[in-house]
Amino acid sequence: MVDSFEKAPKTELDWAAIEEKWKKRWADDRIFETNPQSDKKKYFLTVAYPYPNSPQHVGHGRTYTLADVHARYKRMNNYNVLFPMGFHYTGTPIVSMSQRIKSNDKELIETFQKIYKIPGDVISNFKEPKKIASYFHQEIKQGMNEMGYSIDWRREFTTIDKGYSKFISWQFRNLKKKGLIVQGSHPVGWCPQDQNPVSQHDTIGDIEPELIEYVLVKFKFEDQYVVPTATLRPETIFGVTNLWINPDIKYVIAQVNNEKWIITKEAARKMEFLNAAVTLISEISGSDLIGKYVFDEKRKQQVPMFPASFVDPDNGTGIVMSVPAHAPYDYQALIDLRKDYETLRKYNITANVDPIKIIQTDAFSSNESSAAETIVTSYSIKDQNDPKLEDATNKLYSEEFHNGKLLPHIDEIGNLSVVEAREIIKTKIISQGIGTIMYELKNSVKCRCGTPCVVKLLTNQWFINYGDENWKKMSNELIDNMEILPEEIRQEFTNVVDWLKERACARKSGLGTKLPWDNEWIIESLADSVIYMAYYPLSRYISNNQELQKDEDKLLADNMTDNFFDYVLLGKNDPDVVAAESKISVQLLEKIKNEFEYFYPVDSRHSGRDLVPNHLSFFIFNHVAIFPKEKWPKQIVVNGSVLMEGKKMSKSLGNIIPLRHAIEEYGADSIRLTMLASSEILQDSDFSFDLVKGIRAKLFDIYRNIHSHLDIFRVQSNVDEDLEDVWMSSRLQNVIMETTSAIDKFRIREALHNILYRMDNDLEWYEKRKLAKNKSIFNNYLKEFFEIRIKLLAPFAPYFCEEVWEIMGNASYISSAQWPEINQSKIALMSEDNEKLIQSIIFDIQKITKVTKMVPKKISIYTASNIKCTLYRKILGRIQSQTTPNFGQIMKEFVNDDQVKDLVKRNPDLVKKIIDDILSESVEVRERRMKIDSFNEIIPLDDGKSLLVREVGNNNLEVNIYSEDDNDKYDPKQKSRFARPYKPAIYIE
Ligand SMILES: [Zn+2]
Repeated sequence: MVDSFEKAPKTELDWAAIEEKWKKRWADDRIFETNPQSDKKKYFLTVAYPYPNSPQHVGHGRTYTLADVHARYKRMNNYNVLFPMGFHYTGTPIVSMSQRIKSNDKELIETFQKIYKIPGDVISNFKEPKKIASYFHQEIKQGMNEMGYSIDWRREFTTIDKGYSKFISWQFRNLKKKGLIVQGSHPVGWCPQDQNPVSQHDTIGDIEPELIEYVLVKFKFEDQYVVPTATLRPETIFGVTNLWINPDIKYVIAQVNNEKWIITKEAARKMEFLNAAVTLISEISGSDLIGKYVFDEKRKQQVPMFPASFVDPDNGTGIVMSVPAHAPYDYQALIDLRKDYETLRKYNITANVDPIKIIQTDAFSSNESSAAETIVTSYSIKDQNDPKLEDATNKLYSEEFHNGKLLPHIDEIGNLSVVEAREIIKTKIISQGIGTIMYELKNSVKCRCGTPCVVKLLTNQWFINYGDENWKKMSNELIDNMEILPEEIRQEFTNVVDWLKERACARKSGLGTKLPWDNEWIIESLADSVIYMAYYPLSRYISNNQELQKDEDKLLADNMTDNFFDYVLLGKNDPDVVAAESKISVQLLEKIKNEFEYFYPVDSRHSGRDLVPNHLSFFIFNHVAIFPKEKWPKQIVVNGSVLMEGKKMSKSLGNIIPLRHAIEEYGADSIRLTMLASSEILQDSDFSFDLVKGIRAKLFDIYRNIHSHLDIFRVQSNVDEDLEDVWMSSRLQNVIMETTSAIDKFRIREALHNILYRMDNDLEWYEKRKLAKNKSIFNNYLKEFFEIRIKLLAPFAPYFCEEVWEIMGNASYISSAQWPEINQSKIALMSEDNEKLIQSIIFDIQKITKVTKMVPKKISIYTASNIKCTLYRKILGRIQSQTTPNFGQIMKEFVNDDQVKDLVKRNPDLVKKIIDDILSESVEVRERRMKIDSFNEIIPLDDGKSLLVREVGNNNLEVNIYSEDDNDKYDPKQKSRFARPYKPAIYIE
């Protein structure tokens, strides 16, 4: 398991010592403890609190690290940032874990020992659920501290603290008063072993159970038995030609309530969980049914039973009604059966039934053949095992659902749309006793205890009614008004709000808060974690103990009442009354209320993408239910998960790397950067040891580079303004601008690319230019470069940046430093083209000398004539003002343009070439060049001579630069006429 863990190569920095040093200083100086500050804008940022049933591994770290980067970035942008953390103890997983320890579960114990390195005596304590929770709580907290998260730990709580329970009770009484909690019978995902509803948190692989609702259509068999078939399309009962029975499986005859059903054993079990009274009577083989008839009570006619091996005993009732005119599978199975003479002979059947058309659509009703036949033919399907049948089925079902109408002659539902007909038939057959509802799981889901889940019809269960239309409307209003990053995830939220229905909100077991009005129930974990962000501003004032120290500014959890929460969180009630009731001073009450008022609403909520369909959506719902608009959250940030060397992390693959282990080996900053640099936010990021090593080496390079230039931070150097200085200064403004806007939109990979790599390219060029001129780079430009770089990097690699910031001579924390601001006066548009021109001329010359293998003695460079530059500007203008530049049109215009017509007529190719030149540049470059009135190429070319000489490698090289317009130019081969703007002509001897 730990085999895949790679040891880190040595570098000269003692990363562990650096982390230790700064962690201690931050804690000693309490720089991340945040109190209300009336003169400063607040920023309240939260991330889904961890569930302490294991230590965090590298995969967990991404969401928290992103949130911490966000917190640090906002802090550097002058916000009073609150970033708190709590621990979610609620629910059954920790309890079932303790049961597994009690029963000496080898697999679990091995995981604890081998992956997480937990000592044996600690594991033996794990028989008690709270011991598990508090052990991993401390473990996770340590890891968060080691990662350098800038958390205000004074506000820490667990969800089984007494104060928190008071808060959750208040939330639930509030929801109930608003009619949003209902009691009733609803189907839920269920673990038969634990006797509890299951949702995503309780299942292996964190899969949300998805329910499917079938209508069972009951056919009569031999007057005394019911043969039920499960369908999603009850209206197609009018097109049934036969039933499909699997000849190879055993069916059972079972007493189901007051009827005798023929179904599979699996179906009988499912019916039990749906609260039917089920008793098995006897078995009957599928082959015994084949060839016999059932009676269709709807149409009053006999329907034969045919054999089909595709019938799955665990799907529905294990018996399928066949509608060959409208179901591609049924159609194909019938065709296959007609050709299978052996089977026909065996059961003495003919299979000569005709498909019965009942639905018409524009797409499939144009000819004689049925819709199913038409689509099966058009997909060239071979037989019933053809995988294309699935696509054909989806296509036809969707078409008929959206555009289908029942044929006019169909009883009761003729001419109606499929959607209308379906509802009517469903209601009718149920009321006539020839239909009923059956639920099952759409996906195969296992409980964390290993038991396959089922659908249970829970009676007297408590539900949060997310199906409430008005509630959905308000939730959509919040979604429309909040920022969701990345934006592409917004639609997912709207979809969830659409389909959410009643959701079970209480369990009979597990840790957590009891339902305040029904003590048999415990509020489940996705219901007690939706508005808890409101508890953070209060939590540091609450004491969960029985007694208070005299000088403490706190209140006892026992004394918190609904009136207290109503006053502090909603501004209701009289403060004097509330203070007296809570046994605190009015001053303390007001202080707590002000703290909530100051920090709320949540400015940003971070979470993994897997929580969109549940936690994050419930967070939205519950906020709009409980709080007034001004307290609704402002932003949600969603990130993808983490792969390990391209693979999903799993115990079976042995690629789970505990976070603290990775930190110990590679250092927190390298781990932080690796989690964030490998992908954009919504994609899964790929953690690999090569990447960590590469990033660590990069950080060390940065350190070494700064370390070898430390004098610039101590000595004021005189300031030249060479072209490359102006350029460097301008580039820095650009890097600040682009990195800032990337972080604002959480395009973190792009931001890190700028800081780690693009800045190096700039520095390399700058050094080259200085070196060629024999000038020192120990100057203020380099100093500024280093300062900006370290500041931009600080939210991502906080330990490293504190250390470097200190050796640069700063006494303050970089964690509290000011984010670099853009200095407009330093933006020099032309400097980009200056350096680009020097770069490209050197590149072109090197290319020529490489091909010709000559060592140049003399180089002549010719810049384009003024009139060519005028033409260039005209063409650029035309291209920028048009969406699709039309060459013919541009030509026509220019042959009539007095200014350039001579040039264009003399040199017709030139326009085409310039258009190509311009189009090969980025939009950004084009826009920049539009802003520049005139560009004298001779200046940069002249300035870059020294570098050119150096790069060509001949110290006696003679370089001359001429304008094409220059009458005295040296141009023996008439090369100058090939010069174009930004593309000087070259003559090498
Ligand atoms: Zn279970």
